[in-house]
Amino acid sequence: MKVEVCSICNDKISPIVNSSASRELQKILESLPILKKKELHQIKILSSKFANKKICIDCYIQKVVYLKAITKIETINEIEKKLK
Ligand SMILES: [Zn+2]
Repeated sequence: MKVEVCSICNDKISPIVNSSASRELQKILESLPILKKKELHQIKILSSKFANKKICIDCYIQKVVYLKAITKIETINEIEKKLK
């Protein structure tokens, strides 16, 4: 059996992650508020990498949460600029 390895951290991708659980996770992560199209596109790419077992669950969650945090900070900065 071929062992899939995460392209980010090189960890073995756990076969425990079944497809319905991973679809559920993707749904949750993608439904979190996001304000920028650029980041949303990157999240879609991460989701497809995760679905195709190119990245592990830890990296997937980490990257999506990071992108969402970045988006939030950028948006706050833009709002502050406009208020000045
Ligand atoms: Zn990983």
